[in-house]
Amino acid sequence: MTSNSPKRIGVLTSGGDAQGMNAAVRAVVRTGLHMGAAVYAVYEGYQGMVDGGDRIRPQSWDDVGSILHRGGTIIGTARCAAFRERAGRRRAALNLIRHGIDRLVIIGGDGSLSGADEFRREWPDLVAELHQNDEIDEQTAQRHPALMIAGLVGSIDNDMVGTDMTIGADSALHRIIEAIDAIASTAASHQRSFVVEVMGRHCGYLALMSAIAGGTDYVLIPENPPSEGWEERMCELLRNGRAAGRRDSIVVVAEGAHDRAGHPISCDYVRQVLEERLGEDTRVTILGHVQRGGTPSAFDRWMSTLLGYTAVEEVLSATPDTEPQLIGIRYNRIRRVPLMQCVELTRAVARMIAEQNYAKAMELRGGSFTEMFEIFKAMAEASPSVTPPTRPRRLAIIHAGGLAPGMNPAVRAAVRFGLDRGYTLLGVRGSFEGLIAGRIEELTWGDVEGWTALGGSELGTSRNIPTVEQLYAVARAIENHRIDGLLIIGGWMAYKAAHTLYSERDRYPAFKIPMICLPATIDNNVPGSELSIGADTAINAIVEALDRIKQSAMAARRCFVVETMGRYCGYLALMSGLAGGAERVYLHEEGVTLKDLQAEVEHMVESFHDGRRLYLTIRNERANPHYTTDFMCALFEEEGRDLFDVRNAVLGHIQQGGNPSPYDRILATRLAAHCINFLIEQLERGTTEGAFIGLVEGKVTVFPLSRMAEMVDWTYRRPKEQWWLELRPVVTAMAQSRGAAEAPGAT
Ligand code: ADP
Repeated sequence: MTSNSPKRIGVLTSGGDAQGMNAAVRAVVRTGLHMGAAVYAVYEGYQGMVDGGDRIRPQSWDDVGSILHRGGTIIGTARCAAFRERAGRRRAALNLIRHGIDRLVIIGGDGSLSGADEFRREWPDLVAELHQNDEIDEQTAQRHPALMIAGLVGSIDNDMVGTDMTIGADSALHRIIEAIDAIASTAASHQRSFVVEVMGRHCGYLALMSAIAGGTDYVLIPENPPSEGWEERMCELLRNGRAAGRRDSIVVVAEGAHDRAGHPISCDYVRQVLEERLGEDTRVTILGHVQRGGTPSAFDRWMSTLLGYTAVEEVLSATPDTEPQLIGIRYNRIRRVPLMQCVELTRAVARMIAEQNYAKAMELRGGSFTEMFEIFKAMAEASPSVTPPTRPRRLAIIHAGGLAPGMNPAVRAAVRFGLDRGYTLLGVRGSFEGLIAGRIEELTWGDVEGWTALGGSELGTSRNIPTVEQLYAVARAIENHRIDGLLIIGGWMAYKAAHTLYSERDRYPAFKIPMICLPATIDNNVPGSELSIGADTAINAIVEALDRIKQSAMAARRCFVVETMGRYCGYLALMSGLAGGAERVYLHEEGVTLKDLQAEVEHMVESFHDGRRLYLTIRNERANPHYTTDFMCALFEEEGRDLFDVRNAVLGHIQQGGNPSPYDRILATRLAAHCINFLIEQLERGTTEGAFIGLVEGKVTVFPLSRMAEMVDWTYRRPKEQWWLELRPVVTAMAQSRGAAEAPGAT
């Protein structure tokens, strides 16, 4: 090996497997090749590193093809006792050096990552020892003075401090929610109670989030054990729920749940309590390894792709002095954090729990974890915590714009929070037309039962918003129904309607009430929020369709041009392209030129010549008015001649259908809670602000409606700033092999 031979990176998966690890491995291999490095997979975790031989193998572009949709890890994982010993690590160092590898990307839990750090610290000594024993020559020893590492967290538990999400946690939530939805329907049929155990020894993330997304009655998590007498309190909640109209009762228990004295709380104990005190027929379901299984969610595919991409940037730019970093996600952005600091803090949480310092454990989990716990508690209360006044004030909820999965859970949360605070909640059926026609009804706690799992929109929505001529009728309806505050849930048209009402306040005093918009649109094109409700569900629907499309093409040599929704906003196209492994994505934001198309055709023809069987292009529906999906298909077909055929797939409304994903349910619940707080605050203060709410860098943020005009591009109906556009280079890196270095054989 000469000094200008490519840098060599090893990648391994270690510890428990998690869905999304394959996407990370694929991204590491392809980014490495794209950047001119050679990439080796170390099979079976540290065991493969200790064993060497053919367990360390160079990877080509195609070796990691067609793996995005697969659960588990194709390069295998293991727990390895030998690597815990110095002798084992010495063998591992020798095996890596034989291949010229001194940069590693490790995908695993806190155990695997601290093992990697130990290995890195020892590396210079290990190399010196190998040289002393004549196992490597001096030159080789000098070429590898240091081991440079980057860590990605693969763990379904979401138990690592320093990253908002770990690889696999979102997919595990998908599995749990599929199970809870299924259990809820059978439980409701028989009016039964269920106790569901989910994974998480020290971390209640899966339990808490599945309790919120599954709309369950009670949750037990390790970080915040229930206080003494919790059994009676739980039974009271379940009794109240039944009285208010619940047909099923579900208690979620984290695997590591215990009481405040540290005694474990088993599912069986909870079942016994429910049977004895409520006389209910109660069943226990322990979900176990189902949670690790199955295809990764769209989020786990695109996030892991970004993490793998960044990890390669990190190890390639590292020098022997670089502090090792954990590559994680914070507020939807990839971020680097000192690796060992994260491992230490993660272990500190487990220690806090063991020492019964629960307040500190919750604090280390982060602000939004505590916030979500409080939200869950308020949601589960069937009776208001505030005694309603004799004439409670009235908050109305209305939808506008296109349908977005997650609208129902948002209404459910808003109704329950509002009732909990002593307000009357009104549902407007049929959007603004319904408001004008007086289709307004009071919603009770029981009316919204089960809405968390429902796709579509129970209240109904419409893209028709009031015309100038209709404003008078809208104002009359608001007055006649004594609406004191308005929550508008929807997409672009909802925001536009709110903006119109707000701007017409001087002419119509009825509009001088507090009002707030909650972002719900699959297009993800409203201002003030990095994410809107429905977009995650839509991307999952697209990715599922892409998986099927790819399978269907197995028998032929085929190019697919898939058209996604989004109007002028390319979010769905880009993110599903990242998650679904598209070769090329066309966005309106970038435009499409003839030159682009020509370059793509050339690349396509070349790659089919080289043996490619499938080529996937994703096109946003309005990427270009002239270069339409049909045009592109015709062009590719003509140029492909006998080499490949071309099909189009316009996905259409399947993107709006389906039950909301766990993430959309959680986001809907969180934002609805904040909207109700906003309206109540305004009413209590006697002010009448108009606003829109959203997530900005992960924090719930409220913007005044007066700022909307300056934040949007009115012509193309999207925010002026779109954070995700910066992810475009990753699609290119994943898709195009620019004659990248194929890893050479062993030296
Ligand atoms: P996870 O990475 O999922 O937390 P483990 O804690 O079981 O899983 O760690 C996986 C593997 O990482 C272990 O089997 C071992 O090979 C290695 N490992 C863990 N901790 C250490 C350590 N302190 N020193 C060296 N290797 C370790």
